[in-house]
Amino acid sequence: MHQVLTRTTYIGRLRFNVSGKRKGVEKAPEDIIDVAVQPIIEEDEFNAVQDLLKSRSPQLRAPRSVNSPTLLGGVVFCEDCGGDMTLRTSGKGKQYRYYTCCQTARQGHRGCRSRTMPMEKLNDLVVNHVDLRLLNPARLEELLSGLLRRRAEQVDREKDRAGDLRRQAADAEGKLTRLYEAIENGLADLADSNLKGRIAELKRIRDAANADAERAEHRDSQAIEITQEAVARFAEGVRQRLRAQDGSFRRHHLQTLVQRVEVGADRILIKGSKATLLQTLVASRGNPSVHTAGHDVRSFVLGRRLISAQPQAH
Ligand SMILES: [Zn+2]
Repeated sequence: MHQVLTRTTYIGRLRFNVSGKRKGVEKAPEDIIDVAVQPIIEEDEFNAVQDLLKSRSPQLRAPRSVNSPTLLGGVVFCEDCGGDMTLRTSGKGKQYRYYTCCQTARQGHRGCRSRTMPMEKLNDLVVNHVDLRLLNPARLEELLSGLLRRRAEQVDREKDRAGDLRRQAADAEGKLTRLYEAIENGLADLADSNLKGRIAELKRIRDAANADAERAEHRDSQAIEITQEAVARFAEGVRQRLRAQDGSFRRHHLQTLVQRVEVGADRILIKGSKATLLQTLVASRGNPSVHTAGHDVRSFVLGRRLISAQPQAH
């Protein structure tokens, strides 16, 4: 199941106006063109997702990004050469912050064709894209429909399996009862080593089947049904929190949805793992303030405290 889940990613593409390449010139927001709107489901991105999952693991992340206060810290890459895009600053007075490919920073544009991106602009593009294109309950449901269906099928299979195992245990129990009756009635001799072996075997079958059934029933009881309301509540909650002011909190929520942003010469690719999205949705039970997948207990507690202390931005 994990493998099936980790094979799926969603991808959103953004294209933007590429004129005015001069460093530091910001285009007006109305000049930004956003074309390919539909997050595209790609089934064969297994390796990419493995990398994403790895990049989300705190131990494997570069130390630079762990405590990074920037919204997209650690997830921005150059589409052209695949290198990290690092945050740089320039300008006097009002500080100008921008992302640039580490290759370009070292070797100029000989290394790759990448462009620099003002930090605020990239933040806004990604947040707006996620807000408008991903956190739409209908789209979210459509995006996750395959995973949700497979998940429901798995719950059904667990139920069937638990039933089969209980029947298997009852069958062994019935045979044992009949053997004991035979012994009581003098039809079988307990001293017979074959009989002893048979009784031990039936007990083993019965106990193993019962234990497996218990586990299957437990998994079944842990499964949370994902309703349309839960998806809508989740989308709205995350949406609000993405508009919140608190940096680390906002970042935490955004990076649950977006695990990789690739900046190309004329487009931005926004990638996320559907499996992570689904896990987060399941863990949250439709309430994004409660828990997000892939984060430890500490950040969970911190998240809750921040919520109660935090004014709603929108
Ligand atoms: Zn590059």
